[in-house]
Amino acid sequence: TQYVYRFGGGVSDGGKGDKNLLGGKGANLAEMASIGLPVPPGFTISTEFCEVYYDEGRAFPQALRDEVATGIAHIEGVTGKKFGDAGDPLLVSVRSGARASMPGMMDTVLNLGLNDETVKGLAATSGDDRFAWDSYRRFIQMYADVVLELDHGSFEEALEIAKEDKGYYLDTELTAEDLQALVAEYKALVEAQWNKPFPQDVHDQLWGAVGAVFGSWQSERAKVYRRLNDIPAAWGTAVNVQAMVFGNMGDTSATGVAFTRDPAKGDRAYYGEFLINAQGEDVVAGIRTPQYLTKAARETANAKPASMEEAMPVVFGELAKVFDLLETHYRDMQDIEFTVQQGKLWMLQTRSGKRTAKAALKIAVDMAEEGLITREEAVARVDPQALDQLLHPTLDPNAVRDVLTKGLPASPGAASGMAVFDSDTAEKRAAAGESVILIRVETSPEDIHGMHAAKGILTARGGMTSHAAVVARGMGRPCVSGAGTISIDAKAGVMRVGTGSAGREIREGDTITIDGTTGEVMAGAVPTVQPELSGDFGTLMVWADGVRRLRVRANAETPLDARVAREFGAEGIGLCRTEHMFFDAARITAVRQMILAEDEKGRRIALEKLLPEQRADFIQLFEVMAGLPVTIRLLDPPLHEFLPHEESEFAEVAAAAGVDVDILKRRAAELHEFNPMLGHRGCRLGVTYPEIYEMQARAIFEAAVEVADKSGDAPIPEVMIPLVATRRELELMKVVVDKAAQAVFADKGRTIEYLVGTMIELPRAALMAGEIAEIGEFFSFGTNDLTQTTLGVSRDDAARFLTTYVERGIYAKDPFVSLDVEGVGQLIEIAAERGRAARPGIKLGICGEHGGDPASIAFCESIGLDYVSASPYRVPIARLAAAQAAL
Ligand code: ADP
Ligand code: MG
Ligand code: MG
Repeated sequence: TQYVYRFGGGVSDGGKGDKNLLGGKGANLAEMASIGLPVPPGFTISTEFCEVYYDEGRAFPQALRDEVATGIAHIEGVTGKKFGDAGDPLLVSVRSGARASMPGMMDTVLNLGLNDETVKGLAATSGDDRFAWDSYRRFIQMYADVVLELDHGSFEEALEIAKEDKGYYLDTELTAEDLQALVAEYKALVEAQWNKPFPQDVHDQLWGAVGAVFGSWQSERAKVYRRLNDIPAAWGTAVNVQAMVFGNMGDTSATGVAFTRDPAKGDRAYYGEFLINAQGEDVVAGIRTPQYLTKAARETANAKPASMEEAMPVVFGELAKVFDLLETHYRDMQDIEFTVQQGKLWMLQTRSGKRTAKAALKIAVDMAEEGLITREEAVARVDPQALDQLLHPTLDPNAVRDVLTKGLPASPGAASGMAVFDSDTAEKRAAAGESVILIRVETSPEDIHGMHAAKGILTARGGMTSHAAVVARGMGRPCVSGAGTISIDAKAGVMRVGTGSAGREIREGDTITIDGTTGEVMAGAVPTVQPELSGDFGTLMVWADGVRRLRVRANAETPLDARVAREFGAEGIGLCRTEHMFFDAARITAVRQMILAEDEKGRRIALEKLLPEQRADFIQLFEVMAGLPVTIRLLDPPLHEFLPHEESEFAEVAAAAGVDVDILKRRAAELHEFNPMLGHRGCRLGVTYPEIYEMQARAIFEAAVEVADKSGDAPIPEVMIPLVATRRELELMKVVVDKAAQAVFADKGRTIEYLVGTMIELPRAALMAGEIAEIGEFFSFGTNDLTQTTLGVSRDDAARFLTTYVERGIYAKDPFVSLDVEGVGQLIEIAAERGRAARPGIKLGICGEHGGDPASIAFCESIGLDYVSASPYRVPIARLAAAQAAL
C-alpha cells in the first residue's frame, strides 16, 4: 500500500475527493496545488497508516520510512533546499488532519528542521539573524509543548523574564542576541524536564512530530470528542508535512485567515484578519491585535491600522482572485489560511466555512441566484434545525447579562418579564398588559392558560419532553426547563438560586430573562432582538416547496396558533387537541360539572353548556383553515386532570360547580388512577360516556356547516378517535360521530365532506391496522404515545434516566425527540402497510413531536406517509426537511 501522497511543485497525488484517505486538510492542499494555486510543496501520510501505526506498537516500518524519504526529496526538489543542510536548510511544518477538523488532535509544529547548525544557515540565506533565532526559539517552544508535552508555562515564563530584563513590551522588540540567549535557556529547560537534550537530528525531530500526531488520535481529548460527535475511531488521522513559508520575514510578510463571504451575516464580502510580520497562529493567539483584510471593513470598524487591501494592494488583489477561484471551484463559501512571504502569496488551507443560520440561508440563496449552485443544492445546504434560531427572538448579543443559573434549552427564543409563580396570576397580569415569565416547579395541563399568557416559561423540574417543554414549543414560547439549582416557593412567591451568602432571591414581580436557546436564566431585563424573516427565507421556502412531496400541517388549537402556522406555510391542521379548549377559566366549571355528574342526564346538562363554546372554537379554527384539512382529536386525557389537586382549591371549585365539597372530594378520589396514562382515557372515555364525543362531534359539524355557509369554502374535518386498540372501539365511536353528522346535516340542510379515523398510538393498533382500517378512513401516528407505549417509558418521568441512556449509547438519541426508527418505526411501517392493504390510498400522517424533527421526517418520506404535522414554529423546519428528504 501507498501511504505517502505528494503535493505542490506541479504534482498532486491526491485531490479533494480523497478526504477519507488524506484528511480534509491534506485533500484540499492537494486540490489547491492541482488547480495551480501557490501551495508550499509537501506530502500527506494517509489515514490508513494510522491503524498500521497502532498495530505496529506505535512504530514506523521501513516501508514508510522509505516513502517519507521520497516525500522529503520531493520537497527538496521543488524548493532547492535540503532537510538538515547547514548551508540552506529546508524547514517544514507538521500538521495533523483528520477527515473532519477535530479538537484534541496534536497542534501544528512549525519551523521543524532547525538545530544549532541549520539556524546559522537560515540566518545566512535570509540575511536576517533575528528572524532565524526567532524561528528557532518558536520551534523549540512548540516542539517542547506539543510533541514532548513538557510544562508549557515554564517556557512562557522564560520568555516573559527575558523581556522584563530588557524592559521590552512586545516579543518583536527582542533582538537576535536576546533570542539566541533565550534558545540556550529553552534547551536547558528541555533537558531539565525531559532528561535528554533537545533533538538536534532533524530526522529525529520529524519522526517525533509525526508520531505525536498519530499518537494524539488516541488522546483522551480526542476520544471524548469522537464519542460526542459520533466519529468512529477507525477513521484515523492523516499527517501533513509541508515546506515552511515565512510570514515573519519583515514588513512585506504576513499571515492571515479569511472567509470568502461574511460567515455571520452571509454578505458577499471578503472577511478576515491578518498580521504583518507574524507567523502561524499569531493571528488567533491574540498576541497582537490583527488588522482587517479590506478597507471597507476597517472603515466600518473605525479602526486605524491599515487593512491588507491598503498595506499590500498587489498581494491583496491576488488573494481576492484566489477567493473567487476557490468559491467557483468548491461551489461553497471557503475558510482560508494564507501566508505572504516577502510579497509572495502562499495558500496553506481551505475548507467549507462554518456559518450562522442566517448566513447559511443568505449564502445558499445568493449562490443559487449567482448560478454557482442549483436551487436543489441551495435547499440541501441549509440545516433545517438551524432555522429554529431564525424564527424566534434572541438576546441582544451586546447586552450585559446577570446569569443566575442554567437549565435545559427546552423551547427556543428569549423573553423578559416579571416573575410570576402561578398561572392565574400570569393570566391576570398579562391581561393588564404586563410581560410575565411563568415560573413553576413543573407544569400540568392546568397551566395552559398561564403558559399562553406568559412570554416565557421556567421550570425547576422536567426534561426536554416534559409537559412544559412540549407545550411551550407548540405555542412558540421560550422555555427553560429542569433548572435544577432553583428552588421555588410558589406560596411565598419567591424563587431561590444557590444557597448561603451566594444565594439569590427572585420575588414575584421582579424582572427576569430566560433564553430558551441556551437554557440561561438571568436577573433583570436583557433586551431581545426580533428575528427578521428576510426575503431569503421566503425564497428558500418556495424552492423547498417545489421539491417536497410530503405535506406539512401544524399541531394547533387556538386561532392564534393556527394563523401563525398558516403564515409559516402549514397546509392544514394535523392535530387539534380539544382538551386544551377545556382548561379555559370560563369553561372549566362546566367541564367539572360534567365530570361530577352522577349520571348521563347530569352530564348532558353540563355538555349542553360546553357545546356552544366548542362550536365557537371550531368556527374560528375552520375560518383560518378554510379549504384545508383539520384533524380534530376528541377528548383524550383522563378526566381527573380537570379536577383540583390541592386541598386549598376544593372549596372554591365545589362552590363554582355547585356541588358539595365532600361530593367533589369523593369524585376526585374515585377518579384517581395509579397509572393514568394507561388508564381511563382516549376512546375509553368515549366508550363509557359516548355523550361527550357526541357533543364534540356536533360542535364540529355545526361549525363546519356554519363556516361553509358563510364563506363558501368548507373546511375538511377529520375526526380523530384517540387511543384505539381494537376495531370494535373505533366502530362504536364512528357510529357516534356519523350519527351526530347526519343529525346536523339534516338539521342545517347542508352536507360536509368529512373523515373519521384514528390515532395509531398503541402497539396493538399498529399490529391490527388492517382490521382497524376497515373502519378508519385515516391514520395519524401519535408517536409521542406510541414511543411511550412501545418502549414502556413514561415520557413525563424519563428525564431522570434518559440522558444516561443516550450517553451510554442505549438509544442513539432521545426517542421522544427523534423517532426510534428501528423499533417504533417498524410498527409505523407495519401499520402503514396493513392499513393500505385494507384500504388503498388511506391517508397517513404523523402528529407527534417527531413531525418537526428532520431525521424523523426523512423516515416518514421513506415509507411514503402523506403528511407530517409539527408545532407552528417548526412548520418551516418541516417544510425544508421534507424537501431534503425528497431530494
Ligand atoms: P489548525 O488545524 O489548528 O488550523 P494548521 O495545520 O492549519 O492547524 O496550522 C496552523 C497555522 O500554522 C496555519 O494557519 C499557518 O498559519 C501555520 N502553518 C502551518 N503550516 C505552515 C507552513 N508550511 N508554512 C507557514 N505557516 C504554516
Ligand atoms: Mg490549531
Ligand atoms: Mg488551519
